[in-house]
Amino acid sequence: AAKGDGRGVQRFYRPEMLAGAQSRKQLEDHLREALIEDQFHLAYQPVVSTKDAHIVGFEALLRWEHPTRGAISPADFIPIAEDCGLIERIGEWVLRHACAEAARWPGNVRVAVNVSPIQFANPSLPALVASAIANAELPPERLELEITESVFVEDSDAAERMFRNLKALGVRLALDDFGTGYSSLGYLKTAPFDKIKIDQSFVRGAAVPGNRNAAIIRAIVMLAETLGMETTAEGLEVQDEIDLIRDLGCSHIQGYVYGKPMRAAEARRRLEAGAVAQPLGFRVSRSPR
Ligand code: C2E
Ligand code: MG
Ligand code: MG
Ligand code: MG
Repeated sequence: AAKGDGRGVQRFYRPEMLAGAQSRKQLEDHLREALIEDQFHLAYQPVVSTKDAHIVGFEALLRWEHPTRGAISPADFIPIAEDCGLIERIGEWVLRHACAEAARWPGNVRVAVNVSPIQFANPSLPALVASAIANAELPPERLELEITESVFVEDSDAAERMFRNLKALGVRLALDDFGTGYSSLGYLKTAPFDKIKIDQSFVRGAAVPGNRNAAIIRAIVMLAETLGMETTAEGLEVQDEIDLIRDLGCSHIQGYVYGKPMRAAEARRRLEAGAVAQPLGFRVSRSPR
């Protein structure tokens, strides 16, 4: 599968991905046009506190609506943007738009932005982040940068320097998709994360009696708490999972059960209507995103 982690790792593209494009080159051309022709937008998914069900923030997720090919998933186009060098410009677009939107939210509601390992390896990232929050007049502690374990694979000294420089800006750092990479736990000794995001593959099935995922989640939560980090469980779809994840001690929840990623205007309406999130009273389908 084409996943956005593991630089230098051979990537395989699903055939259906390339079906609409004559070539990989054409998809790159389409991506380049997308930036110019304004085909991107951000969708925001609520992050909810398990303590009081308040929305504490939203994760910004990139959406690409191609005029003829329709919606293309970030899981499909981000790896291509990373390979062809477009991720820097796309990432800057995401960062600036997310900060501008979040600056309009009431209270201290946060925005989380996904940062590609390619962006993370660029020493100019802190300057870009500083510029984005200053232009938007967003207090730095309301921006959370999500990075994956793969950034530790390459140069760990450079990674540590990057962490220090980002933390010096006052922004928050979250470790995304925890438990799905191939890294050792060693980096947790020094990496200054504010939050660990527990991948949805652990949530899936955790409510089934005898399933080991619950034990793994409990262990991750204990580890995070000991290190002074918050935990967000990702991909919760049903009420049973909310109850279980709360019992396991996670501090935050994100998933279709509290809402699919939504347009900025809808996110703002949700906040203006009150910060308490209501679980959706129906079982949502697991397949479409
Ligand atoms: P991620 O950062 O782990 O984001 C969470 C993904 O899980 C999102 O998929 C979200 O729509 C999906 N999700 C949330 N709740 C549920 C649920 O209850 N059930 C299920 N089945 N899925 C749920 P999405 O939006 O398709 O994004 C996929 C991945 O693409 C992201 O994973 C992230 O790695 C990457 N991505 C998205 N936007 C950006 C971006 O702006 N920059 C970068 N570098 N990567 C991005
Ligand atoms: Mg994320
Ligand atoms: Mg994730
Ligand atoms: Mg993911």
